[in-house]
Amino acid sequence: MVVIKSVSAKSIFDSRKERTILVSIMTNVGEFRASAPNGKSRGKHEQSPYKKDLKGDIKTLKQFSRYFSEDEIEKFWDLRRIEDIVEGHVGANTLFALESAILKALAREKKKEVWQLINPNAKKFPRLIGNCIGGGKHSRASSITGKKPDFQEFLLIPKANSVKDSFKINKETKKEIWYALKKGDGKFQGKKNDEDAWQTSLNEKEVLDILRNFGIALGMDVAASGFYKRKKYHYQNPVLQRTKEEQFSYISNLIKNFSLFYIEDPFEEEDFEGFSRLLKKYPNFLIVGDDLTVTNGKRLGRAIGEKSINAIIVKPNQNGSLIQVMDICGSAKKHGIKIVFSHRSGETMENILADLAFGFQADFFKCGITGKEREAKIKRLIEIEKKIR
Ligand code: PEP
Ligand code: MG
Repeated sequence: MVVIKSVSAKSIFDSRKERTILVSIMTNVGEFRASAPNGKSRGKHEQSPYKKDLKGDIKTLKQFSRYFSEDEIEKFWDLRRIEDIVEGHVGANTLFALESAILKALAREKKKEVWQLINPNAKKFPRLIGNCIGGGKHSRASSITGKKPDFQEFLLIPKANSVKDSFKINKETKKEIWYALKKGDGKFQGKKNDEDAWQTSLNEKEVLDILRNFGIALGMDVAASGFYKRKKYHYQNPVLQRTKEEQFSYISNLIKNFSLFYIEDPFEEEDFEGFSRLLKKYPNFLIVGDDLTVTNGKRLGRAIGEKSINAIIVKPNQNGSLIQVMDICGSAKKHGIKIVFSHRSGETMENILADLAFGFQADFFKCGITGKEREAKIKRLIEIEKKIR
């Protein structure tokens, strides 16, 4: 069993040079650390990362430090007791980092891997989803043209026999895309965005026209809430507005014309109905909720009730509680909803996301393609694959 002797936290920088939390715990089996990432295109219904602010949560953990030693941690479910102590006192980032550090300690004490604490019989590996070209809130407009795609992410979803091979395919394809953009976007500067994806002046149709030539299943994160205001979708590239109905037709056409395998947040975060109309029209494509569901059990419940999605993004730090993440995965599975574990746009070197995705038997792992913070997680997944195959 693990006994937590003390807990402390400090602020570190994420990949975007923004501050985030690193939690350290001192236990009977040593010291363990874990950090949380930061989102930028955050859902309106997402839990707050900190109770008030990062400094406040660091102080709160210090004040609470002695309470943790009253509990002994034996298994995953004992995280519930930790939640009883801090619930309502810290935000989701802090809780996620704290629980992650505890799982690392527990794994060491049990001489197991973190994923084995969740599901010792896990076998199936998630399929990689990699962001190769970006726009929206994660990209800056080109300094030459002043343009960028309105949609946030253009995703490669290779189907290979192993995570290792998929990773290789994604990395090689991303390199080839550089050449394709050099040719197709006269003003391409070779710059990368927050998630290390290529930045371009092209719009979504022009990007998809390039990507369709690579013979890999394609996806998009429209992140539509990012450009929805006053009942309209405000496009900049080219400048035009689409009503709810026009957005529905446009997205439908893109899915059909480019055989999009995966489409995330095609409509704004309150439009459960738009999602369900799309799913009804395209039941064989992945209609994915992210800002719609924000890793929240109640929002998932509503999406299930309204048949809005057949896949859900799970960002553990959006919720904080890994017990709730377990419930969400259970309920998604029960209703045939595919699970997509996902990084955030501002990441750290923390790699526990791979263990969580494998332990919870996620169907997909959306974690970029390049950049040390993203590769750390994909490499951890490959390490697990190597050990158990
Ligand atoms: C996303 O929208 O899928 C995403 C990763 O964005 P962020 O981390 O900025 O919320
Ligand atoms: Mg998203």
